[in-house]
Amino acid sequence: MVQDYNKGGLRVPSIETMAKSLKLAWISRFLQSIPAHDDESWKVIPNHFFDKYGGLNFLLRCNYDKNFLYKMCLPYVYKLILLHFLELEISYNTQFCRFVLFNNKDILQSNQVNLWRVWMNKNVFLVQDLLGDDDTNLPRSIMGYMKFPPFSYSEFSRKFQLNGNFLQYMQVVSAIPKDLMDDARRCHLDKTSILSESSFQLSADLSLDLLKMKNRNYYWLLIGKDQLEINANMKWERDLLPETILARHHFSRVKNICRDNKLREFYFKLLHRIVVTKGELFMYGIAENALCPYCRQNDSIIHTFCNCHWTKWFFSEVIKWFNVENATSFAPSSSELIFGLNNDIKNQSSSAIVKKLDFTLLFAKYYLYINKLAPKDLSLDEFKAKISWRCDFEKPPPSTSL
Ligand SMILES: [Zn+2]
Repeated sequence: MVQDYNKGGLRVPSIETMAKSLKLAWISRFLQSIPAHDDESWKVIPNHFFDKYGGLNFLLRCNYDKNFLYKMCLPYVYKLILLHFLELEISYNTQFCRFVLFNNKDILQSNQVNLWRVWMNKNVFLVQDLLGDDDTNLPRSIMGYMKFPPFSYSEFSRKFQLNGNFLQYMQVVSAIPKDLMDDARRCHLDKTSILSESSFQLSADLSLDLLKMKNRNYYWLLIGKDQLEINANMKWERDLLPETILARHHFSRVKNICRDNKLREFYFKLLHRIVVTKGELFMYGIAENALCPYCRQNDSIIHTFCNCHWTKWFFSEVIKWFNVENATSFAPSSSELIFGLNNDIKNQSSSAIVKKLDFTLLFAKYYLYINKLAPKDLSLDEFKAKISWRCDFEKPPPSTSL
């Protein structure tokens, strides 16, 4: 129900997802800096906490996981923002930057906030920054022979002009798993793209502008991640010819197929195959048998709307009447009788008459469905009487402009 119309849903608000997206919307507020707007003192507290871990923008690109997050020294609400962002990344199979040295679940080391800050200031934050040339002063027994081994401490401190502690450096180097080191040798990353404030690569074909992401953008990203296969689609494909138009193309029509809510509800239920016939009623133990009240054959949704010869007779009479009334020559296929007219016919004829036929077919199905459940005999005269005032109701309201 929370999905968009074209995925078979009704855009019902998902409270849980809404709560997540409202928190995620804070990311753009934290990251934005408006030069003309000097008063950004409200950010002092969040910045204080995020800066401990390299800043929010850096943190979002790190390879952290839930456990790492829980150990962080951050207020709960900031942790939630990061947690929901992590959920978003996981649901889109985002390629985490595995090579960031800090906040990395794969590079376990004790919390060295001060060290990170010093290194970050010198733009040292990737595994590749620690890799030197094919020559090393490190004892071969520790590192083994390798191409581009890590710098020795003296080389490292010389290159980045860092005055630190030999033990701290060795602690970081030894915390990097061997396979991660090997991978870092193979691929050289562009640092500027990693820290670019505006774009975040969520998946191969989806890039987010973190500065512009609003609540509703996050909401539909979170909702849209579920690629649900609608059961009704598979059943329609099973029951109708494969070349018939799939129900999924019709879900988006639910919103504006007509103005009558009852009929829209019926059309939605029909597409999802949650209408009931004698077959279903018998299965639930409500009816005594599963026989069609008109032809005494086994009843089902496909029998009611497609195969029953009374249905075929009724639809053909309705179409005959419609063609005579409107001087047209429509001959809808069996799938069009169920789902409505397809786009080819719509392009050929004037839209008003096609809309009228679409509505007539929809009401014919509804009339058939209601009468069959009652059960009452089908009558073309009664149908004509009932549809005439409904057609008036469907007409757009008269224009009030003079
Ligand atoms: Zn029948």
